Amino acid sequence: MRTVEIIVPVYNEEEGLNRFYQAVNEVLKTLEEYDCSYLFVNDGSSDRSIEVIRQLAAADERVKYLSFSRNFGKEAAIYAGLQHCDADLAILIDADLQHPPELIPEMLGSVTCEGWDACGAKRAPGTFSRLFTSINNKMSTVKLQTGATDYMCMNRKFVQAVLSLCENQRFSKGLFAWVGYRVKWLDYVQGPRTVGRSKWNFRKLLSYAIDGLTGFSVIPLRVVSWAGAAICLLAVIYIIATLIKTLINGIDVPGYATLLVVLLFMGGIILLSVGILGSYIGRIFMESKNRPLYLLDETNLEKDSDRDKDER
Ligand code: UDP
Ligand code: MG
Repeated sequence: MRTVEIIVPVYNEEEGLNRFYQAVNEVLKTLEEYDCSYLFVNDGSSDRSIEVIRQLAAADERVKYLSFSRNFGKEAAIYAGLQHCDADLAILIDADLQHPPELIPEMLGSVTCEGWDACGAKRAPGTFSRLFTSINNKMSTVKLQTGATDYMCMNRKFVQAVLSLCENQRFSKGLFAWVGYRVKWLDYVQGPRTVGRSKWNFRKLLSYAIDGLTGFSVIPLRVVSWAGAAICLLAVIYIIATLIKTLINGIDVPGYATLLVVLLFMGGIILLSVGILGSYIGRIFMESKNRPLYLLDETNLEKDSDRDKDER
């Protein structure tokens, strides 16, 4: 019998966790040909999520959990979940029921019977997501699927490949695309959150998008170089023209507007370039520390309870 692990990142989901567990359980009941278990990853929730998870674990031995020492972010939770999963198949799913558990049987079927390496869910993308994906796909060799989510079922090979990418600043959607294995996409309609709040706001989304871009492409750096080269060329033409004009007409004093425009424009371009350079240097800085992606505080996985806590 194939084993399946349902990996659930959890951050302040106390209100919805029981309902989530019941909804997934309904679906798992229909899947007798698989041996399913849960792996909740409590990402440093500040509410009672961990207590709810402990109760679930006490009542159902298929429920395993990891709990972080603080909030390390969903990407770290996904990484930890995959790292501690030793089932044949892993399913990543959000705890807020925005990822319909009804898709699980079809996902499992696609990977086990149809020979796909992974099966993910995609939804109709919002404007921001569409814009980001199209910019990313123009700039990067790693092409993203529009509307793709990280609700995904993957086989061992896929999980191992994702884990082998051990960078600190993770952008899972990009990593899943980077590994290149065959992914089938199922369409779904995403409902609103029933309880709790989304952890995203515009600022977080924007920095996530910038992380995604700078993590997978150095084209922004090249664009800046090309812009610099183009401006140099224009400047040379302008210098020659001014020299000739001065030689013919003598010194022409007015020119305040031109000076100001050129100065401001150049200042803008230089600051922009420094900013782009800076974001890459920032990434190098963060990676060079080589810190663990998360720290475990508590788990009911036997083999990990006494394992070194600060492993990556
Ligand atoms: N999550 C997490 N750590 C965080 C933020 C979110 O583990 O720092 C979890 C959250 O509990 C949920 C999933 O990631 O299970 C998706 O979060 P959310 O619903 O806020 O994101 P959205 O659906 O708006 O993309
Ligand atoms: Mg959500």
